[in-house]
Amino acid sequence: MKYVFGPVSSKRLGQSLGVDLLPPKSCSWNCVYCQLGKTRKLVTERQEFFPREEILEEIREALKVNKGLDWITFVGSGETMLYKGIGWLIAEVKKLTTTPVAVITNGSLLYLAEVRQELLQADAVLPSLNAGSEKLHDEIDRPAPGLTFRNHVEGLVAFRQEYKGKLWIEVMLLGGINDSDEALRDLAAVLKKIDPDMVHLILPTRPAPEQEVHLPTEERIERAIAILSEAATVVNPLKGSMDLRNAPDLLEAVTSIISRHPVQQRELHKAIADCFPEESEKAEQMMAVMFATGRFKLVEHNGEPYWVIKEGSGLQR
Ligand code: SF4
Repeated sequence: MKYVFGPVSSKRLGQSLGVDLLPPKSCSWNCVYCQLGKTRKLVTERQEFFPREEILEEIREALKVNKGLDWITFVGSGETMLYKGIGWLIAEVKKLTTTPVAVITNGSLLYLAEVRQELLQADAVLPSLNAGSEKLHDEIDRPAPGLTFRNHVEGLVAFRQEYKGKLWIEVMLLGGINDSDEALRDLAAVLKKIDPDMVHLILPTRPAPEQEVHLPTEERIERAIAILSEAATVVNPLKGSMDLRNAPDLLEAVTSIISRHPVQQRELHKAIADCFPEESEKAEQMMAVMFATGRFKLVEHNGEPYWVIKEGSGLQR
C-alpha cells in the first residue's frame, strides 16, 4: 500500500491504522530530534500531494481487512496539515467507519483559519509544543521563516477555542535542552493558555539521523511531569509496540513501517513472534530473511539496536 500502513499498536492510541499523505520528507519544521532526518527543503505551501480519491480507496481497502481498530491516524512523512484536502478525507473516512480519527501534526499551520477548519471533524488532534519560549522553539523545531513561536501559540489557542474534540499536546522532552525547571515552567505557562485535554510527554527513544539527541534522566522526566501537571493531565507513555498479526505480507508491512521511522530490534522481534505463537524459532528466521533482502540496516541508539531503512529501499512514490 502506498499511503496506509500498520496497524501499529501503541500505548497512546491502541491499534491504529496509519495514513501518510505526504511525499517524504515534507515539513515546515526541521526538528533536531526528527527521526526522518534533516528537512532538506522547508515546505509551508499546502498542496494535494496525491489524489484524495486514491488515498480514500486505499483506506477503504485497508478497513476491509483490519478489524478491531481503535483509531485511524493521519500522520505523515513530515507535517500532516500540508496536505490540502485532509478535511475532506476525514469527512469521507467518517462515512466509512465509526472508528475515530486522530491527526498528528506539528501544529505550525494552525494559525491559518482554513487549517483549523479542516481539522474540526477529527476526534483527536495531537499537535506539538516543545518549548515555552521563542528561543527554545527556534532551537528545537527550527521552523520555516515566517513561522514564529507567537504564531504557533496563537494557532493552538485559537484552535482550542473552536475545536470540540480531544486536544492532546505532544511535548518531546530532550535531555539537556528543554528539561530544565525554567524551560518546563515556561512550557507550563503556555500550556495553561492553550488548555489542552491532556499533555503527552514523549521521549527521543528512536535515533535521530541528523543530530545526536539525549534521553532526559528519570529525575528530569519526573520533574517534567510534576511541573506540566499544573497545566494539564500529563501522560507519560510507555514505549509503543507494533502489531503485525493482520498484515497480509509481513515483509511489505515491516518495510512500510520502517520507511517511516526506525524500529527497535526487540520490538520488531516481539511483533513478528506474535504472528507465530506456536513456532518459537520462526521470528528469528523471518528476521534473518528480511535482513537478507538488503532493505534494512542496523544502527545503535542509547545502547539499543534499531532497524532503519537503507536509502532507496523504502516506499516509492
Ligand atoms: S515536525 Fe515532525 S516531521 Fe517535521 S521535522 Fe519535526 S519531527 Fe520531523
